[in-house]
Formats: sequence, structure tokens, C-alpha cells
Amino acid sequence: MNIHDCIVIGAGPAGLSAALTLGRARRGVAIFDNGTNRNRVTQESHGFITRDGIKPQEFKNIAMKELESYPSVSISNETVIEVNKDVQKNLLLVNTSNNNSYLTEKILLATGIQEEFPLSQIKQYYGKSLFSCPYCDGWELRDKPLAIIAVKDDHIIHMTKLVFNWSNDLIVFTNGHLLSNKVRNDFENKKIKVYTEVIKNLHGDDGNLESIELESGANILRSGGFAVPSFYRPNKFAEQLNCQVDENGGIITDGAGRTTANGIYIAGETEKAGPFSLIIAAGDGNKAASSINMDLTLDRF
Ligand SMILES: Cc1cc2nc3c(=O)[nH]c(=O)nc-3n(C[C@H](O)[C@H](O)[C@H](O)COP(=O)(O)OP(=O)(O)OC[C@H]3O[C@@H](n4cnc5c(N)ncnc54)[C@H](O)[C@@H]3O)c2cc1C
Repeated sequence: MNIHDCIVIGAGPAGLSAALTLGRARRGVAIFDNGTNRNRVTQESHGFITRDGIKPQEFKNIAMKELESYPSVSISNETVIEVNKDVQKNLLLVNTSNNNSYLTEKILLATGIQEEFPLSQIKQYYGKSLFSCPYCDGWELRDKPLAIIAVKDDHIIHMTKLVFNWSNDLIVFTNGHLLSNKVRNDFENKKIKVYTEVIKNLHGDDGNLESIELESGANILRSGGFAVPSFYRPNKFAEQLNCQVDENGGIITDGAGRTTANGIYIAGETEKAGPFSLIIAAGDGNKAASSINMDLTLDRF
């Protein structure tokens, strides 16, 4: 079996950027990606300098095209289902859902995160008129009548204050969560209404939010907004490989992508199981790739 220098799991900006650096360093790299990147629902990505407004798939296509210049890099759309140490061979073993197995010296985990919303109906509007990151999509929603949908004190306060910068026509929906008088007063002073009632339904067409219906039957007109999800890592690869985890569930690293498990590196949102941006994920991948290349160099030189 061919032994790769590095297997990169995940072709988001973190994995693709790492693969570019590793390919340019003449390393044999196999990338696996199953197309479950969470930003696939959005129409445009913003804030990546030189690529502001690009479609997520186009971003990926350009990156994959660039990788074609490096013959030691391959990309496959297989889903990785298991990663193990092959102790006898002192290598790592990656198994995919196509029943294929691959051996490698290093693994880069760049599998991203996924989100879970306080209300299942949000998914129908997510990426079109409801978003979770004002830096990514606040500009497009500026000055519109917006909803903030969040169900925890800190999420509600943080998101409302932040989004107020893009639109001061805000209504907060807490779906049953009660807010203190202090917070309500702070919001009222800024003319921000709060509905703590349970949300019955969201209404709109083709992902474009038009109104939010409350249990009482009231239907509040809104044309978009921001919802605060909780985020989670979609697999346990890091734990299975004995990478140490901190008290918040983040993977402990040396700050340059090396986990505490030999040969296992991590980059992008999956590291802390929290959201950031395309450009930070890409930078992270670049940094982890330098660590991988340096460690391969020291292993062999
Ligand atoms: C609606 C929405 C809009 C956004 N808009 C912006 C924006 O405008 N600007 C911005 O900077 N950021 C935006 N983001 C955030 C941005 O998408 C992320 O910060 C970035 O994609 C994180 O990169 P990553 O490489 O860590 O993970 P991802 O991009 O999520 O990539 C992880 C990859 O791993 C693959 N994968 C996972 N598990 C497996 C497995 N077992 N086997 C094989 N492959 C696997 C997935 O298919 C996926 O492609 C947005 C996010 C969302 C949800």
C-alpha cells in the first residue's frame, strides 16, 4: 500500500490551504472531502480579501484547480469513517466509507464544525436570509428589519449589541427564554423590542424570511436576521487518536497545529469546535502545514 506523507481530512479553506503548502513542499498528500462544509447553504462568502462575494463552491473549485499544479496532491470525495494508529508499522491508518484503507505518516484533521439551532425551521432560511455571523453577512442585511433569534442570555446580549451596528431596526426573539429587567431596559432604550414568547413558526418563500409567528398567533414582520446556534465537532477522530482535549472541548495544540498525539495535526474550526472565518481557517491550515512539513523534515533528515 502506498504510504502518504500526510492525509488531510476536509477540503475547506483549512485543509485546502494546508494541502497547497504541503504540495509546494513536495509532500505526498491525499485529501478526503465529503462535501458537508457548513457554508454550502450560503449564496456568497464575504471578507476573504480578493474573493469578497464568491460562491462557496467556486472558492473550492479555484483552490482545487490550483492544487492540480502539484502532482503529489490528490483529492477524493470519500468519507473518512475511522482513523487508527497502526502501531506495528508506526504509521496511521485511515478507513473510508468506500471500504478503502490508506496509510500515512501524518494526519491533518480539518473537518470543520456543524451547527444546531434552537429552532429546527431556521435551517430553511439559513444562508439566504438568516445567518449566524454578522461579519460575514451583516453588510447585505444593513438597515433592514431584522430578527435576533437566540435563547441564552450571553448569546442574546452579544448578538443584539453586535448587529445593532448594521441595523437598528431589531426585534429580539428568545423562544421562551426570560430576560432580566436590566437587559430589557437596555434594549428598550435603543428601541429594540423583545418577544420572549415561544416561536410557533417562521414564514417566507424560498429561504427569504417574511415573518415570525408566535404561539399567541401574533405574526411579526421581519425580512432576515441572525440566529445563534450551538456548534459541535461532527466526529470524534481527535479523541479516538488520544489528542488531549481542554475543559471546553477544544483540542489542545502547540498553537501551530500540532496536537498532543504524535503525527496528528488539526486546523480550522474543528480545533476549538467554534466558528471563525474562511481567511482564518486558511491561515490556520497554512500554519499547520508548516509544522507537518518541518516534522517530516526532522524525522527524515
Ligand atoms: C451560512 C454561512 C455563511 C458563512 N459565510 C462566511 C463568509 O461570508 N465569510 C467567511 O469568512 N466565513 C463564512 N462562513 C464561515 C466559513 O464557512 C468557515 O469559517 C470556514 O468554512 C471554516 O473552514 P474549515 O476549513 O475549518 O471547515 P469547513 O469549511 O467546514 O470544511 C470542512 C470540510 O471537511 C469535510 N469533512 C468533514 N468530515 C469529513 C469526513 N468524515 N470525511 C471527509 N470529509 C469530511 C467537509 O465536507 C468539509 O468540506 C460562513 C458559514 C456559514 C454556515
